[in-house]
Amino acid sequence: MRASWSRVIFFFLAFTLSARAQDQLAPKIAAPDWGAYQDETVKMMQEYLRINTSNPPGNELAAAQFFHRFFDEAGIPNTIYEYAPDRADLYAILKGDGSLRPIVMLNHMDVVRADSNNWRKPPFSGEIANGEMYGRGALDMKDEGLLQAMVMIIAAREHLPLKRDLVFLATSDEEVGGTGSTWFLQNHADLVRNAEYLITEGGANLILPRHGTIYGVGVAEKAPFWIRVTATGRGGHGSIPLADSAPNRLVRGLRRVVDWQPPVRLLPSVEQYFKVIAVLEPEPRAAQFRDIRKALEDPNFARQMSQDGDFNYLLRNTVSLTVLQGSSQTNVIPDTAYAELDVRLLPGEDPQAFLAQLRNVVADEGVQVENISRLKPPNSSSANTSLYKIIEAVAHKYNPQALVAPTLNSGYTESQMYRPLGITCYGFNTLEVTEELDSAEHAANERVPVEKLRRGVKMLYEVVARAANQ
Ligand SMILES: [Zn+2]
Repeated sequence: MRASWSRVIFFFLAFTLSARAQDQLAPKIAAPDWGAYQDETVKMMQEYLRINTSNPPGNELAAAQFFHRFFDEAGIPNTIYEYAPDRADLYAILKGDGSLRPIVMLNHMDVVRADSNNWRKPPFSGEIANGEMYGRGALDMKDEGLLQAMVMIIAAREHLPLKRDLVFLATSDEEVGGTGSTWFLQNHADLVRNAEYLITEGGANLILPRHGTIYGVGVAEKAPFWIRVTATGRGGHGSIPLADSAPNRLVRGLRRVVDWQPPVRLLPSVEQYFKVIAVLEPEPRAAQFRDIRKALEDPNFARQMSQDGDFNYLLRNTVSLTVLQGSSQTNVIPDTAYAELDVRLLPGEDPQAFLAQLRNVVADEGVQVENISRLKPPNSSSANTSLYKIIEAVAHKYNPQALVAPTLNSGYTESQMYRPLGITCYGFNTLEVTEELDSAEHAANERVPVEKLRRGVKMLYEVVARAANQ
């Protein structure tokens, strides 16, 4: 093969040019007066936590007006969409030069309710005690929303060069009905359709007791697919047993369901996740995690994994038996009995095919198996992107020992609604939390360490600034 010098020179030039572009970016990241921006972040976060957006009823309009005021002051074009009384989405944009597709920062402004009795500090106070800021939403997800807003404001004030538009989208009602994102996508999908990337909640950076921190980038979620199993038969008096009564048929069918394990299906991102966390395990498990696909061929290992709640849900569709309903009186055999199953499907699954599989397992034509939830099809994003690599690099810069792994969430996030537009969606945030702190989400004493907030804003700015330029 003939060496193509022109090509070599081209690559050399392209490399130096992109290295130079990065060099030009470095002062833009380092130069801001970070102390002042971090103070501002803390103050704004307190103010944001004081706006009560408990859902229901939400009242997110007040939060949208809060962002609107700050964006107006920074000269950032933004629009409030009040799609129902006191419920609103806010969209803001900083235009780039258009050479790359936009990046969206998505956050929800509503929070779950808080019973102030169990809190050390009032849940809508933003009070700081022992270096921790208290407030409903401190971790879910007013923290991320506020940091995303600060990134917009700093980028505007510092005249950050942008190859992509930076889009900020704050929505309502994520915790209850999802009407904010639903309305936005029905009416203004064009404002985000062209985006290449979206970051939102669903990432978690856990500080492990002995092993440093694991940065989890949410690349996929499982989807709830709820099922009701109903048996019917002849009713009667409890003193005269009926062998094929509705409860008996139901229990026999359910017995087969709970003894069943849906087959393993290994997603590439899950494989990558095991590879990353292998270093946390002793041998021989570490070696098995490094090549999980091969290890799962060993029935013993496969059984161990299926019995481990932390890992099993990553490997397959899962079924949890949750509701059981028969007679309300001990001496009455009912003519109907039913159960409900909380099924969670992996991305890429065909719900109807799963339903057919489940009917085969129940194996009783007299027992009905039907879907009772509105399915939001499960989907996922690749972990092999420039944004993922930037996240990895910045995480390592701030915490050289950190592990960075793509994660599959057992729960739902709104990423699922935006992926069908062709956007790579990640759950990502920059706050590191302990397991104890993490468990305060949706519970009493939700709080965020002030130091983490200060560090988080700088780190998120660095991720977004780099992502907006490559
Ligand atoms: Zn949330």
